[in-house]
Amino acid sequence: MTAEIKAEFRSGYVSIVGKPNVGKSTLLNTLIGQKVSIVTSKPQTTRNRIIGIKTTGEAQVIFIDTPGIHRPRHRLGELMVKRAREALSGMDIVLLMVEPSRPLPADLAIIRLLKGRTPVRGGGTAASKTPVFLLINKIDTVAKAKLLPVMDQYIGLYPFGEVIPVSALKGDGMDILLRAVTDRLPPGPKYYPEDLATDQLERFMVSEIIREKVMEATEEEVPHAAAVEVIEWAERPDGLVSIGANIYVERMGQKGIIIGKQGMRLKSIGTAARRDIESLLNTKVYLDLWVKVKAEWRRREANLIELGFK
Ligand code: GDP
Ligand code: MG
Repeated sequence: MTAEIKAEFRSGYVSIVGKPNVGKSTLLNTLIGQKVSIVTSKPQTTRNRIIGIKTTGEAQVIFIDTPGIHRPRHRLGELMVKRAREALSGMDIVLLMVEPSRPLPADLAIIRLLKGRTPVRGGGTAASKTPVFLLINKIDTVAKAKLLPVMDQYIGLYPFGEVIPVSALKGDGMDILLRAVTDRLPPGPKYYPEDLATDQLERFMVSEIIREKVMEATEEEVPHAAAVEVIEWAERPDGLVSIGANIYVERMGQKGIIIGKQGMRLKSIGTAARRDIESLLNTKVYLDLWVKVKAEWRRREANLIELGFK
């Protein structure tokens, strides 16, 4: 009999950053093996968003988009830069994707952001803690001999934890990438069911979008106390998707804050969410939102299950 050595399950958050058109969405689609439709990030979105979940026998990798970071720094407001840095410092790994050519200003701007991440207690910056892997994408378009100088140039710019040449389009380098990511993730649970199908994923993403808009609209007034449950999802023959969702809060006061004067705040939350959902689903959306008080839902397991956090 051979002894079975079972490694601890790992999980964590991996941010994919890189300039537009470098192949981030293609990488996700290839890694996750199904069309992950949330590929376009709204330029003004300041928060992180789950864009894909990959579950293997060993690990669950939750891929995160950090929209602000894809814009050149000189066009970023100070607040956006701050948010982008904060967002990155919460990651377990950052994947920086580049083209197989010399670094351009857009790449350098992102590297500057990576270098300047939020300082951590005890000196240094979060940069020294969170590994950054360099992915040189589109290697199918260049001769191997051209890759080495590109690698050299990038290595001189940042202490990358790994440098991995890939072709997101052809699927080259995916095993190496997943291996490297898995090895660097901390031990952790399966946060999401592994058989999360596309439609469930879309429902989940829709609820995350709504939650994000609630948080953005209310800032500190509703501190992470809102949960969102999609309760209706109907696709009409003309392609319009009609969605209904409950926003749960813990207290009456929070309900009032979310609804706002004459319902104005809920209305603008709905409009902002609808726009993002439309770009996620690539179709017209009708969105209905209701705010409900569910006292201390966070502490009640039964409610969590009911809300889809099983
Ligand atoms: P994103 O803006 O970073 O999300 O980039 P996309 O994933 O949308 O890809 C931009 C373009 O690059 C698309 O036309 C892709 O087909 C193409 N692309 C992505 N990865 C590769 C690759 O590995 N090789 C080649 N040749 N093209 C790629
Ligand atoms: Mg994209």
